[in-house]
Amino acid sequence: MASKFDNRGIVQPSGVMEIKFNVTKPTNIIKFHAHTAFIKIKSIEISSVAKYSFIKNETIFPDIVVLTLNENLLPNNEIQMKIRYNTKVVLNDTIGIFRGQSLNFQTLKNENYYVTQLESIELRKVFPSFDDISIKAKFTFSLKHFKTMTAISTSAIKRIDINGVYAISHFDETITMSTYVFGFALSSFRSTTFISNNNVTLKVWAPHEQYYTSLLVGETQIGIFNELTKYFKTPYILPKIDTMMLPKFKYGGMENVGLIVIDGNSVKYIHAVTNSNSILIVNLIAHELIHQWIGNLVTPKEWKYIWLSEGITKFLEFLITDKLHPNMFPNHKYISFDLIYHRTAMEVDSTENFHPVEFYFDPSTEAFVKHFSFSYYKGFCITQMIYHLLGDKQFEKGINAYIANYAYKSVSSNDFFAVMDRYVEKRQPNSPNLIEVGLSWTSQAGFPLITVTQRRTICMDDNKDNGT
Ligand SMILES: [Zn+2]
Repeated sequence: MASKFDNRGIVQPSGVMEIKFNVTKPTNIIKFHAHTAFIKIKSIEISSVAKYSFIKNETIFPDIVVLTLNENLLPNNEIQMKIRYNTKVVLNDTIGIFRGQSLNFQTLKNENYYVTQLESIELRKVFPSFDDISIKAKFTFSLKHFKTMTAISTSAIKRIDINGVYAISHFDETITMSTYVFGFALSSFRSTTFISNNNVTLKVWAPHEQYYTSLLVGETQIGIFNELTKYFKTPYILPKIDTMMLPKFKYGGMENVGLIVIDGNSVKYIHAVTNSNSILIVNLIAHELIHQWIGNLVTPKEWKYIWLSEGITKFLEFLITDKLHPNMFPNHKYISFDLIYHRTAMEVDSTENFHPVEFYFDPSTEAFVKHFSFSYYKGFCITQMIYHLLGDKQFEKGINAYIANYAYKSVSSNDFFAVMDRYVEKRQPNSPNLIEVGLSWTSQAGFPLITVTQRRTICMDDNKDNGT
């Protein structure tokens, strides 16, 4: 992908996308994603082009391109598709490739930065792709940009070629991953480097105004990362994690593989360690790191299973930060957050005609956004119930077996419950297995209403004085 500035300083990226895929059954149709409001396709070539030609190239939905070939692609063939295209940078929202500005304290001028936000289905606004959570692939990415800026991406930088005022940053091939957690960024931010116990390089990038906060974010992050690499037996696979701290970001954070984005406003009180806000800040930093395993490595098969990413991660935030900072969560604070999540989940879940936590919404709709946030809360509650059922040690074994079984793959709720069921120790005779119990919580709205009646007997001794 290359970037070109017009006379207003607006970047107009253009690129070449090469997609390789295997044909499993004969077809003369190729469908892929490219949002027409953003992407203008200039040309498409398909390998063995002499054999195939297009008879129709039309867009039926704004984000799906359908190619009809004049003869079938045959099974067991690897097809290469090369697409040249232009796309757009978004100026006033946080989708696709978006631009922000930060003040350079030395020049006192605003500088542009560019970051991607691709969850849930925004990659199709950046380049043509098979942009579906269920499809995992490896990405090889290069970015041409002004050499005064630094490019970072999901994978580590492989080499930088300088050509006049431009640089071309080439990145290593990514792990097998879903499209929504791919990312790249371009900025003149300063970075600070931290090295983990197992030699992973964590760099925090920040604009001048957030530089000192970024040092605290980095220190917090490295502590949590070291704790996570003890807890998770599947090693963190990349040699690095970059974190971009932005002056303005629509979300608290985003967990792109190897490239976390954090909202600077959400962490600006990180120095106030006694403030209850700091719990949320530490949890936010932990959240995006935990996603590197839960969500990025083991990914929900469909958007309806998103609680497997957000709910489990939300619960692990507390578990990990509590192990790392036992004094930071005095019981009353832990319990109060615990209750907030339960209360929020139950309030929403008891709405009349509400949908189950496992429910499909079109990711482009507002209903999906609402459901997404609900999945954090109910997902937290379900995971916490499993934690209490299994106990700390068995839960840890279960989570690790789940990651080991499904790393680089995609999962359903059933897959998660089936693994955790193997670690139930104290099973009552004839009690249902965890799959039945778990699915009853994810496939139905609401929760059981339990009435507890308490009877008390108070003994009064009339012979004593009532003097106290
Ligand atoms: Zn999350």
